[in-house]
Amino acid sequence: MIKFWYKRVRLGVLTENPELDKELAQIKKEIKEKVKKKFSGSLAIRMVDSGSCNACEAECNALANPYYDLERLGIYFVASPRHADVMLLSGVMTFNMTPHAKEAYAQIPEPKWVITLGDCPVMQAPFEKNYAIKAPAEEHLPITHHISGCPPSPLEIIQGLLEFLRKI
Ligand code: SF4
Repeated sequence: MIKFWYKRVRLGVLTENPELDKELAQIKKEIKEKVKKKFSGSLAIRMVDSGSCNACEAECNALANPYYDLERLGIYFVASPRHADVMLLSGVMTFNMTPHAKEAYAQIPEPKWVITLGDCPVMQAPFEKNYAIKAPAEEHLPITHHISGCPPSPLEIIQGLLEFLRKI
């Protein structure tokens, strides 16, 4: 036990401190302001996976951790498209999932927006040659904003959300 405490004192705090990340702090501040102004403080996102490898979703999950803490900024992931403002679309638009993605979009109340997440929905990368892929998402849904990457990091996703908020 003494050894453990000695090591702890010697090494100090090793975890990241969001307070010290100036870039992230600035992004969070602006997101919070824009969500308050444009969505009365609460922006609901419905995540739709149209055939992803799930790495994009895993990066999105990190947005809920105490470091990124998206809910503190007023952005929530919701279980039903009927409660959503925005669809966050990942995956390659497979034959089977494309009708469901369109159905989910139809159920989102107006006004509504679609953000594509990762390279899959726009260029089907890295699965371009696969027979089960329907087409780029833009052929099926009106895309407002794209967050690129394979997968995009949580910081890139949060930056992409800010760009979307600036755009609308
Ligand atoms: S963009 Fe990359 S990480 Fe995201 S679902 Fe497609 S293959 Fe997976």
